[in-house]
Order: sequence, then C-alpha cells, then structure tokens
Amino acid sequence: MNVADSEVVVAILSDLGFELTDSIGEAGLILINTCSIRENAEQRIWGRLKAISHYKKKDNRIMIGLIGCMAERLKEKVIEKEHIVDMVIGPDAYRDLPSLISEAESGHKAVNVLLSKEETYAGISPVRMDKNGVTSFVSIMRGCNNMCAYCVVPYVRGAERSRDPESILNEVNELWANGYREVTLLGQNVDSYSWEYEGHKTGFSELIEKVALVNPLLRVRFSTSHPKDISDKLLYTISKYNNICKHIHLPVQSGSSRILKLMNREYTREWYMDRIKAIRSIIPDCAVSTDIIAGFCSETEEDHKETLSLIEWAGFDFAYMFKYSERPGTKAARKYKDDIPEEIKTRRLNEIISVQNKISARSKKQDIGRIFEVLIEGNSKRSQDYLSGRTTQNKVVVFPENGCKRGDYVNVHVERCTSATLIGRIN
Ligand code: SF4
Repeated sequence: MNVADSEVVVAILSDLGFELTDSIGEAGLILINTCSIRENAEQRIWGRLKAISHYKKKDNRIMIGLIGCMAERLKEKVIEKEHIVDMVIGPDAYRDLPSLISEAESGHKAVNVLLSKEETYAGISPVRMDKNGVTSFVSIMRGCNNMCAYCVVPYVRGAERSRDPESILNEVNELWANGYREVTLLGQNVDSYSWEYEGHKTGFSELIEKVALVNPLLRVRFSTSHPKDISDKLLYTISKYNNICKHIHLPVQSGSSRILKLMNREYTREWYMDRIKAIRSIIPDCAVSTDIIAGFCSETEEDHKETLSLIEWAGFDFAYMFKYSERPGTKAARKYKDDIPEEIKTRRLNEIISVQNKISARSKKQDIGRIFEVLIEGNSKRSQDYLSGRTTQNKVVVFPENGCKRGDYVNVHVERCTSATLIGRIN
C-alpha cells in the first residue's frame, strides 16, 4: 500500500518539476513514507531521521517530509522533537503537496494530516517506481471500516472509500499498454469494494472480472481479503478466469474463536475453516497464505494450541507471523491488558513459525516434478544466467535464462527447491 502511495506522491511531484533520484545525496526533497502497523516500523523511522539529518546539516535548503500513517498519528511529536522535519503529511493529503512545499520553503512547518471521506487519488496516474516493468500495484480503495481491536489502520487511514471502476480500468489499460503483465489490486479489505453509479452496482467480483477482461495475458492478483467477507461468488469468478491468479491471502490472525471475538474479527474458527473448504472445492489448485498474531491479550495455551492446529489443518502455503505489539489508541490498547509476557509470546511465535515452515517446505516439495506457467519478472538475485518469476500460486521459480526475457510466459519444469524458491528448467 505504501509503495502504491509513494507512486501517487511521485506523480504529484513530477507535475511540479521534481524528478526521482536513486541517490539520496542528490535530493533537494526527502520524503519518508511511514507505516504505523507495528511498533517496529515506527521505531525504524526515528533511526532513519537521525541517519539523514546530516544532509540537512550540510545544506539547510534540503527539505525533509514525513508522510503516511505515522505522520497522522505522531504529528505533534514529530514537529516538536524532530527539528529537521519541515513537512508532516497524512495519507489523504498528498494533493496538497504543492502548497505544503511552498509553505515549507518559506520557512514554516507545513502540516496536513486531515483524513478524507472521499479522497481516492482517482485521476492521478502513478509514476511506477518498480524496477521490473512487469508487475505493478493498483490501489482500488482506501481506508477501512472494520475495527479489529489490535489495528491502527482505521484511525490513521480513515474510513473505507472505493475508487471509480472506470479510473481503475484506465490505469490498468495504461499499464498493459506500457508492457506490464501483472497487476495487484490493493485494498485493506478488497471484498467490501463497492461502487454505485446510476443504480448500477459494482462489487469486487465484478471489478476483478472487468480487470481480467482487459487482456487474457494480463495476470490479476489482489490483496487483502477478509475471511468474514470473501464470497463464493468471488471464488467462482477467480476459477472462471485463467489470468486471475490462484492465490488468496486470507489473514486468520488466531485459531481460537474466543481470541477472534476479542480481536473483533467478526468470524469464528469454524467460519474460517468453512471459507478454506470453499476455496479448496471451487479453486482446487489455489494457494492460500495468511497472517498470524502470537500472544494477543489474554491468549491461553489452549488458544495457542488452537492456532497451531488450525495452521496444520489449513496447510497454508505461506504465512506472515508476528508477536502481538500494542498500538496506541486501538480498542485493545484502551480496553485489554497486554498481559502475555514477552518470553511466552516469543516461544509461541517460534512454535507457530516451526509448524508453518514444515508445511511450507512440504508444499514446495510437492511441486517438484510439476510444470508451472511462470511470468518472468527479471534476473534471479543470485545469478545473471538465471531468470526469476512466479507461478499463478505466487511461488517464486528460478531457471536458466535460455533466451527468454522479462514479461514472457514460460512453462517451467520444477526439479528441486530451497526453503523459499522452486528451481527448474524451461520445458
Ligand atoms: S480489516 Fe482489520 S486488520 Fe485489516 S486494516 Fe481493517 S481494521 Fe486493520
């Protein structure tokens, strides 16, 4: 989401005559796009500000801005504590960058962290910052109306707003014309995408179908689905189109219905299992990944065991796994006690990682001997003689180059694997 936002910011700045530079030493304006999701991400920003302060000391004309979620959450602290910061700009205020830059140039601290009920940045053509020219993000909505007890997003990114499907399709068509071969539709909860115009409703299933029809050679991915909202209708649409990728990221967070209730996730363990069963029956070859939080408030050993057993049962291909970290202002911070000792959180997280690693390894081993269609994204990180791409299930595959190039589709026969990668040969 932040990469997609940075691309909107670059587009707005390009209209003002700014150019993107790879070398921070050349920059006249340095913007740090921040994230408030985990404490860790916030901590890193304070360190980053220290690291760039010498550019400002060397040349006082250099402007430094903090943008994104953290700007919204910590504006006062940033302005008071970080004297090198000239601008603090929240995620809905990027169109205001021209006037904020003028204000900062005249020596004032420029701040706009207002959240909007409408802003979706429709009509702005993001300047792509990715290097491969093959895969790209397309933001389809902003904000979130769910109130998961641990999550800061609704407070720092505001209420949910969907973007006009026409502007989404224009952006996707432009990407296709510029050689891109994969788009990832982005939203905090894509299943609740909704747009109404002259009595005609477009939900996420209709939107993804329209995007898939742009061209059968354009792969379509999406992130993130919410287990309470993902519908059979969407699953049937995914199964109908070859170019809608067979991978669903479905964050479960916990395997215990009691903890899910405290988290305000609005589904139970059984509901989640039912959604996984629906995925497996409607899209048999679909990969499923998830997010898991270890050590949420009041989590017992029993709750933790339920998480472990759910991971085993679901057989996730991949998982993002974290220890619970309390975020100020959230329902959990206001109402619950962060009462699981750090060493227990760590031990539970390690147990979760160990179970998941075994399952991920098993899923990769099962791919050995199979042939996958791979979209080539570029050279492998380890060797220029090897190319790297992904399967529709989002698994990374590397293979000898063999005269092919990025943007091509090839069939690869998988011969072996490492913990993160499938290795094979063009068939
Ligand atoms: S669905 Fe829940 S976890 Fe996801 S962004 Fe919204 S509030 Fe946060």
